Amino acid sequence: MTHPLLDLAPLSAAHFASIEDRVARLLRTEQDVVVMQGEALLPLEGAIRATAGPGTTALNVITGPYGQTFGDWLRDCGATVVDLTVPFHTAVTAEQVRGALAEHPEIDFVSLVHAEAATGNTNPVAEIGEAVRAHGALFYLDAVASIGAEPVLPDAWGVDLCVIGAQKAMGGPAGVSAVSVSERAWARMAANPRAPRRSYLSLLDWKERWIDGGRTALLHAPAQLEMLALEACLERIEAVGPDAVMARHASAAAATRAGALALGGGLEPYVREAADAAPVATTLRAPAGTTAADLVARALAADPALPLAAGGGALAKEMIRVNHYGPDATPGAVRAALTALGAVLAEEGLTVDVAAALRAAGKSWR
Ligand SMILES: *Cc1c(COP(=O)(O)O)cnc(C)c1O
Repeated sequence: MTHPLLDLAPLSAAHFASIEDRVARLLRTEQDVVVMQGEALLPLEGAIRATAGPGTTALNVITGPYGQTFGDWLRDCGATVVDLTVPFHTAVTAEQVRGALAEHPEIDFVSLVHAEAATGNTNPVAEIGEAVRAHGALFYLDAVASIGAEPVLPDAWGVDLCVIGAQKAMGGPAGVSAVSVSERAWARMAANPRAPRRSYLSLLDWKERWIDGGRTALLHAPAQLEMLALEACLERIEAVGPDAVMARHASAAAATRAGALALGGGLEPYVREAADAAPVATTLRAPAGTTAADLVARALAADPALPLAAGGGALAKEMIRVNHYGPDATPGAVRAALTALGAVLAEEGLTVDVAAALRAAGKSWR
């Protein structure tokens, strides 16, 4: 008996290459795109270990938990790391990046997270890219949470290593990811004796054995399920158009923010300025005297399908995340989240106006 997920024909090299080309079109890049068969942490770590070493001085911009992780990897590679940390309720500015580069002329690597789903902020990559290019540093960008939700343009922005994953706004699988690599980044890797080789983390293996060979022979058996799911997800985005997918996410963020403000009860957007708030997910500050993790747990107990989560680690007490991405970037998901938050806040004895929240959300849907 056939099964839709089993007994799949092997995925050919040509098919694999065609999926890479589709990712390149989504990123509007002429750079090499390497699809990697693992969650996005695979190319995120692989790209750092390939390009950073004891001779590297890295500016590591921290606007949430992922930036912290990148700093740890960079230090582990022997790099000297200059951390630029901004409060998680803001975005970093190009001015701050320019200042750090001026203060440390030896910086030759900049790592940045575009949008951070865990904190709900998004950073002005185009402007930061200008500063990084003017300085001449290699520019590494985590665009996992921004791709599909807002423009991600590595070529226009001068990004040398741009990592994406399909599991957020693309509404795709989590087990496959991709990185676009500039010529400069390949050269940096080739010159790095500590860059992983003959390793699952290795980007150079893909360069030498896949790209330079004309993409005719794969390094190992491709993960068909994930590759086919990635292809289906790209097809769906192409069919409705990336702009429509991004507009859905922008609307979901605007509606959630406006709805939360109108709900009352002391609920507030966690990211203070709307311009700094990411289209992929909206973070909210739990009212004083409540605990975000408790509120979310009660809402999810009533309806496990709600796109709600508490902040991670130390943020679990104060941060509520509305993960309105992928299939949840809809008016229905936003309404359901606001209604559920209204119900748990009312149980706390707080005065909320769910009808006003839903009206405000509806009006903000663009
Ligand atoms: C979601 C996300 C990732 C992927 O990591 P997960 O732990 O699988 O969610 C990477 N970077 C950023 C900025 C993300 O928001």
